[in-house]
Amino acid sequence: MTILLQIGLPVSNYLSLRNKTLNFSFIFVYMPIEEEFKPDAIIIGSGLAGLVAAMEITSAGKKVLLLDQETEQNLGGQAFWSFGGLFLINSPQQRKMGIKDSYELALQDWMGTAAFDRKDDYWPKQWAEAYLKFAAGEKYEYISKMGIKLMFMVGWAERGDGAASGHGNSVPRFHVSWGTGTGVIKPFVEKAYEAKEKGLLRMKFRHRVTALISVDGKVTGVTGDVLENDDKERGFATNRNVVSQFEYKVAHVVIATGGIGANHELVRQSWPERLGKAPENMVCGVPAYVDGKMIGIAESAGSSIINRDRMWHYTEGLQNWNPIWPNHGIRILPGPSSMWFDAKGNRLPAPFLPGFDTLGTLKHIQETGYAYSWFILTQKIIKKEFALSGSEQNPDITNKDYVLFLKRIFGKKAPGPVEAFKENGKDFIVSNDLEDLVQKMNELAGDDLLDHQKIKSLIEARDRELDNKFSKDTQINYIRSTRKYLGDKLGRVAKPHKILAPENGPLIAVRLNILTRKTLGGIETNLNGQVLKPDGTVLEGLYAAGEVAGFGGGGMHGYRALEGTFLGGCIFSGMKAGKYIANL
Ligand SMILES: Cc1cc2nc3c(=O)[nH]c(=O)nc-3n(C[C@H](O)[C@H](O)[C@H](O)COP(=O)(O)OP(=O)(O)OC[C@H]3O[C@@H](n4cnc5c(N)ncnc54)[C@H](O)[C@@H]3O)c2cc1C
Repeated sequence: MTILLQIGLPVSNYLSLRNKTLNFSFIFVYMPIEEEFKPDAIIIGSGLAGLVAAMEITSAGKKVLLLDQETEQNLGGQAFWSFGGLFLINSPQQRKMGIKDSYELALQDWMGTAAFDRKDDYWPKQWAEAYLKFAAGEKYEYISKMGIKLMFMVGWAERGDGAASGHGNSVPRFHVSWGTGTGVIKPFVEKAYEAKEKGLLRMKFRHRVTALISVDGKVTGVTGDVLENDDKERGFATNRNVVSQFEYKVAHVVIATGGIGANHELVRQSWPERLGKAPENMVCGVPAYVDGKMIGIAESAGSSIINRDRMWHYTEGLQNWNPIWPNHGIRILPGPSSMWFDAKGNRLPAPFLPGFDTLGTLKHIQETGYAYSWFILTQKIIKKEFALSGSEQNPDITNKDYVLFLKRIFGKKAPGPVEAFKENGKDFIVSNDLEDLVQKMNELAGDDLLDHQKIKSLIEARDRELDNKFSKDTQINYIRSTRKYLGDKLGRVAKPHKILAPENGPLIAVRLNILTRKTLGGIETNLNGQVLKPDGTVLEGLYAAGEVAGFGGGGMHGYRALEGTFLGGCIFSGMKAGKYIANL
């Protein structure tokens, strides 16, 4: 019998964005007693990958115990906070927008981007090919059947390094879900509660796994700490007070515990020389529970960990003026028109243009010896081109508010959260006068590295390139060509204009910090999601999915990513591991 009841927390707490309650309703089921529950599988981590695996296993009638160190308020993990961008190939939305895409073109882009070059890349490459087939075929139907709806306008993320066979997306492929990340996880959360109602799923929150139990080389269970409860809202760091211990035995254990993005010590330890020196100061693009500890625990139990040095961090991070998690950073998803300067006021060369080549730009910035850079732009650019990544930064799409969304496209101001950052964000400076702007930039950086005359002449030179319909400036040419894509012209790329012309102002400067986010390497798995040992054989009883497995295989993205591939990677790898266990 289904009883509409709450278990310990109000529904509004469960899926609320700070003070804004989303329009979700869930049926909470009252479970009066802890009856004997013998799971077929334990899943560690109730993020997207864990929820997908749980759905696949329970829909085959098998039982799952889902453990998470966080509270129930945090169900869905990082995906809740995500922008909800999904990578698809040749989707109906792309076709409607006049985009010609194909598996072959996407394969060319993926391989140019991943640049697989290691012996360890055997399984990552298998995963990449399998994932591309999924993204070009079954994925659209899979998510549609779950009720995930996509916006008509397809975004063009990671536009690349300028070479057809090199890094980047040749065409727009970033499909934002209506509801952003909340729209992506909602159906999987609903499925979890349905499975719970049927007695197939049990969820235990505040259960932090600290070790895997092995017998005769086979993983047979988990042990860990029960943490004190905590009533903090979703996303806020919770306490780590241990109240007791637990131990569970089971035939199959799935690790779905996310990456290392909030563990800056681990990020710095894993930082590769090829990206320059690891930054001392970074902002954090993920909640505190993305602590990466389970990777070391899996390694101690005999798992092979590969490609630790492959990570996906951003160069356009802002310090959140209204933080949720510690050191909370927000990423700007920039359109291509802002002028980009390093800490000393040198213009970044192409292809290091906004939204083009994330890690190429990161390396370039790190080589300057300063872990920050600057955008200089106009009100017209910020209005059209600034989007902030994160569900809470996009209330129009998250709350499926069409009127607010139309205002984003046709209104005079930038979206509310962008304007709020402009007003309150520590990294934003606004002025009608360039000299004053540069002086304030120096004050913010606490040094005198920027020279007004030098910056003025660089902007004037760029502005002069607009007098003809043709130009030698790569950025200007790119801005012009990209507006041939309707999605960019309508919603993403401002009409080319002179930055120093007062009618386009005021001028805006934004200090950009390095922001940690995604882990591209991790636990090595075969195509069933089974964890491998360093000798390449299967570690019986253990599986991994999602970010902890480098989204499949231990690093299906290789060195770099095409964007929107992470949520889809969680769905695909969670589905593969779940289906394999379901069919045993
Ligand atoms: C702001 C933001 C925007 C993003 N935008 C996009 C986007 O537009 N498109 C895209 O593709 N991707 C995006 N991403 C990335 C994507 O959301 C994540 O990579 C993905 O959700 C990771 O899911 P996961 O299930 O692997 O792990 P997580 O969501 O990190 O979940 C892991 C869970 O495991 C638990 N856990 C960890 N260790 C233990 C332990 N020892 N014991 C018990 N439990 C443990 C954690 O508490 C957590 O609940 C974004 C991420 C963020 C933060």
